[in-house]
Amino acid sequence: MDYQRIFEEINEEIKNDAPCGEVASYIPELGRVDPNKFGVHLTTVNGEHYSFGDSDEKFSIQSIAKVLSLAMAYNMEGEALWERVGVEPSGTPFNSLVQLEYDMGIPRNPFINAGALVIADILVSHLANPKEELIRFVREVSGNNEIDYCTRIAESEKSMGYRNAALINLMKSFGNIKNDIDVVMDFYFNLCSIEMTCKELSRTFLFLATYGICPETKQTILSVSKAKRINAIMQLCGFYDEAGEFSFKVGLPGKSGVGGGIVAIYPNKYSIAVWSPRLNKKGNSSKGIKFLELLTTKTQASIF
Ligand code: GLN
Repeated sequence: MDYQRIFEEINEEIKNDAPCGEVASYIPELGRVDPNKFGVHLTTVNGEHYSFGDSDEKFSIQSIAKVLSLAMAYNMEGEALWERVGVEPSGTPFNSLVQLEYDMGIPRNPFINAGALVIADILVSHLANPKEELIRFVREVSGNNEIDYCTRIAESEKSMGYRNAALINLMKSFGNIKNDIDVVMDFYFNLCSIEMTCKELSRTFLFLATYGICPETKQTILSVSKAKRINAIMQLCGFYDEAGEFSFKVGLPGKSGVGGGIVAIYPNKYSIAVWSPRLNKKGNSSKGIKFLELLTTKTQASIF
């Protein structure tokens, strides 16, 4: 498949569209990013690379990192993990509080903020040096020792982290957070601050297109069953209250972040990362979704 030609074709089609949406500004440092950045990188399971635009520029992957923390926690906790977090689409915004009260502090899934905070709590319980061990895992999965946190972004988010503080306090009151709240929040903000380029991001997620095995190193990151289940959760919950629409339009499991990144997986074929910081009302990259919609339309290939 000539993905390069398709990327150029899609760009021709959308390059004159009116800019759509706003850069996330509730995290002050994210509000400073150039809204017109646009990058794409596709890595095939055979190791071919296709890129477009600002694909070598680092950005804050934000909630996309929740897939990596979930993978790490799932390996440690096994199926017992699902006693503390569900696997159902939320149908509510990423930072919503409403369901937690009805569900006794059990978040609907691991990709909304509440769920990712519970996963962070689980990792803090298991790891002696949570931040160091998490970034070591991310570097291992990505085959890149340079991947790192961005302290500036983590601090910026912490300075305005009232909503996440509300979520974690509510869950603590129900007994679903076991560790000190400040320690878990610090770990969570660092997780969200990880930076990658589109190229690094698509390479990092390739293991989910290859049933848990890193195609380059042949290392098993997840069992086949766990990789399938994480893809299933991405399909159903990767875009918050826009997960249905993403499935409908794009037809691939994926995950977004408020930094404007999206990663999507085509099992047995490729992993693709797109980055465009302007977000729609649901907190997902507008141009990123449009690009992926056109990609699966033009290639006539999606998991459906
Ligand atoms: N760090 C962000 C937050 O907690 C992550 C949200 C996102 O990327 N959707 O609000």
